[in-house]
Amino acid sequence: MPHGMMMELPLLLSGVLQHAEAQFGQVEVVSRETHGPLFRYTYADCAKRSRQLAHALASLGLKAGDVVGSIAWNNHRHLESYYAVSGSGMVMHTCNPRLHPDQLIYIINHAEDRVVLFDATFAPLVKAIAAQCPGVMAWVCLGDAPSTAALEGIPHLHSYDTLLDKASDQFEWPQFDERTAAALCYTSGTTGNPKGVLYTHRAIVLNAISSCLPGLLNLSPQETILPVVPMFHINAWCIPYSSFVGGAKLVLPGPKLDGASLYELMESEGVTISAGVPTIWQALLAHVEQHHLRFTTMRRTAVGGSAMPKALIAKFMDIYQVEVRHGWGMTETTAVATMGALSPQQRSLPAAAQQDHLAKQGKTVFGVSIKVVDENGQDIPRDGQTQGELMVRGHWIVSTYHKGDTSPLVDGWFPTGDIATIDADGVMQIRDRVKDVIKTGGEWISSIDLENVALEHPAVAMAAVIGVEDPKWGERPLLFIVRKPSATLESAEILDFLAGKVAKWWVPERVVFLDALPLGGTGKIQKSELRKVYR
Ligand code: AMP
Repeated sequence: MPHGMMMELPLLLSGVLQHAEAQFGQVEVVSRETHGPLFRYTYADCAKRSRQLAHALASLGLKAGDVVGSIAWNNHRHLESYYAVSGSGMVMHTCNPRLHPDQLIYIINHAEDRVVLFDATFAPLVKAIAAQCPGVMAWVCLGDAPSTAALEGIPHLHSYDTLLDKASDQFEWPQFDERTAAALCYTSGTTGNPKGVLYTHRAIVLNAISSCLPGLLNLSPQETILPVVPMFHINAWCIPYSSFVGGAKLVLPGPKLDGASLYELMESEGVTISAGVPTIWQALLAHVEQHHLRFTTMRRTAVGGSAMPKALIAKFMDIYQVEVRHGWGMTETTAVATMGALSPQQRSLPAAAQQDHLAKQGKTVFGVSIKVVDENGQDIPRDGQTQGELMVRGHWIVSTYHKGDTSPLVDGWFPTGDIATIDADGVMQIRDRVKDVIKTGGEWISSIDLENVALEHPAVAMAAVIGVEDPKWGERPLLFIVRKPSATLESAEILDFLAGKVAKWWVPERVVFLDALPLGGTGKIQKSELRKVYR
């Protein structure tokens, strides 16, 4: 077949930055400084400082292919480094500061970070790990340190702002193959060492374009987006890139992630859409409820990372008129791979039925395909009932882990470790993680479903379910509850509540009341911690 006769230009992140500067140069970026105040500038300013940073990185001796780590909040300096590092042909490795220090040392060394950028908050952490990261030739503090004493003892220390002050703002972004590595993110690694996912420029640019579609984030200059999801968690679901493609005002919350600070920021900056894991929204809504507040500008919220409880969807929609966009994705899928939405017909259903639909993880976005298979790898029917392992493939799905010697793919598909159903309409629902599903007497109980029902009880703030060994049934569910402040709730009452809503054999025998549930680095409930203590 003859080739078409069109230009072939590589899809590069520097192209995204140049587009944003040229088309949306005056669109604002608002960023919370690590020490508290808000900083504001424009896309054009961000592009200029990214060029300065590209010079500064070269002045540190870095060259194309080198890896630059970051241990940082969502702020404008971190944003500049996203573009400067990848735009120069280097690899941006965002590190999760909430990893255990041993894991942090492991990923910095495994990735071969040559320079690490860090926020002053993390100076004690850097001090603790620096000696064990011998390959790092410069530690660069982003912005002002609270005091020089806080930084004392950090080897090869540089100040980001001083480096930039000295640098020219004229820089020609290099052109290279779009399959070049742009960014690196490690999985949270609850078992074994974290695994690195090395994103290409092409994957990120395609994902960013797709994320701007109306069915996803709908980003345009009419929107103001607040990614609460950290820039160290799958590149903040690529919002730092997609906002620049679409031209949306970008609001970066820095270290202040409590409900009160987020609410205040949303209102003062006119945020129309935000994105984060369910536990963040739980804290935000608790604040809003307690103070009888309303959202005056926020219209949509994108939620993912773990299942969005139906009770929370109901609150957002019924009480606050905020539309919930429930998405599914993983480190291995660059960002969102499926997204829930209501069809025009579903919009006229009763509220509870609409919420049932929105609790599902939805349809694939353009560029991604999914299927569900049984234990033998055979496709299972798309009937919305039969469960199996979710497999995914597409333009921005991992093919091999960084420095991995074997491919995780099975017949070209990535096995996600999630158990799901897909219905005839293509709507996917996550039922559990393979390792979380409770196998009792040969049948499966979805821990997510059970948690969802428990969360409908008005006295329940948080709920988690794990499987514990049982001599008769193999496993039985054990329910953990965090009560709402000042609520009274005893085992019998919550078990009765469940008995009215789920099959009898699903109802746990025991409930453990806790003051809080263990949360992992990205704000998800850490069932592995619960298992260690209670299994
Ligand atoms: P991570 O790579 O750390 O973001 O973890 C990815 C995993 O989070 C997925 O494999 C799912 O198990 C889980 N996950 C992500 N989004 C959702 C969602 N909307 N509902 C349920 N689980 C989710």
